[in-house]
Amino acid sequence: MVVIMKSGTSLEEINKMERRLEELGCNPHKTQGENYCIFGLVGDTTKVDMRQIEANINVERVLKVQHPFKLANRLFHPEDTIIDVGGIKIGGGNVSIMAGPCSVESEEQLMSIARSVKSLGAHILRGGAYKPRTSPYSFQGLGEEGLKLLKKAKDETGMPIVTEAMCVDNFHIVEEYADIIQIGARNMQNFSLLKRAGKSKKPVLLKRGLSSTIEEFLMSAEYIMAEGNPNVILCERGIRTFETYTRNTLDISAVPAIKELSHLPIIVDPSHASGRWAMIKPLSKAAVAVGTDGLMIEVHNDPEHALSDGAQSLKPERFGQLMDELNKIMAIH
Ligand code: PEP
Ligand code: MN
Repeated sequence: MVVIMKSGTSLEEINKMERRLEELGCNPHKTQGENYCIFGLVGDTTKVDMRQIEANINVERVLKVQHPFKLANRLFHPEDTIIDVGGIKIGGGNVSIMAGPCSVESEEQLMSIARSVKSLGAHILRGGAYKPRTSPYSFQGLGEEGLKLLKKAKDETGMPIVTEAMCVDNFHIVEEYADIIQIGARNMQNFSLLKRAGKSKKPVLLKRGLSSTIEEFLMSAEYIMAEGNPNVILCERGIRTFETYTRNTLDISAVPAIKELSHLPIIVDPSHASGRWAMIKPLSKAAVAVGTDGLMIEVHNDPEHALSDGAQSLKPERFGQLMDELNKIMAIH
């Protein structure tokens, strides 16, 4: 349920309403804009009499929220959420570029890629230290050693880092180093991990599950937000369909759908969506055209020898060409 207060209502009346809603057993989340104030009510509101609240002269309207996600719902928070990560603003139509290798492999590899992507205009450095691999025999990541290398790359280039936390046990280690904590597609419905991320002060980048609906995706964001962390960045990274030509199918309509349903930033990862480096440029342009808040792109200095996802990684010079093209279309956007 959402209670919209009349514009110009005094602070005293707003506080009174907040107390009244608490007395009715609700858990009101207040969103205060320049000219509006909205209370979003979460929890069981079945016993709340809407007409009783509507009777208050300071109330403009009371709405029932049809969707099960509340805190992530745009009705609760009409303006786009903008998340500040070390001065980089994610959300609100800014196209933030996150780039780097799939996995951190060595100091030489990471530093070389980090310097390249920084000089070509990336804002945030990505790189996995704990890797969710389909096969237990594949490279599993360097673990904390990889996080230390990411920190080194951050110190040198000034780029904040985004890296994945795979489980609750070592979440605190990732949390210590990361500027944005990634929760991967395979863990989108790992509810204990989501709750742990909700207790963190760091922003969370939540990737869409392999076969999840948009509603399930937003419900996972809701888990994080319900624990007190409002800083969730959503990432469309392709979903499973009957098509096998591409690694996944990029659901481009997820961007406008999420913009309609939610105030959270939504970015696109064309690398995991396609599995093919040659498709990254057209898919990135499509993502920008539908209003993405950012792109996550895998870049490798030697994709032929990458320990993971080489086939979908751009060489730095190709990443540079992509940035040039994006700058052209973003300028006319
Ligand atoms: C990744 O970003 O390297 C990754 C494993 O992504 P996803 O969880 O989307 O497969
Ligand atoms: Mn990858």
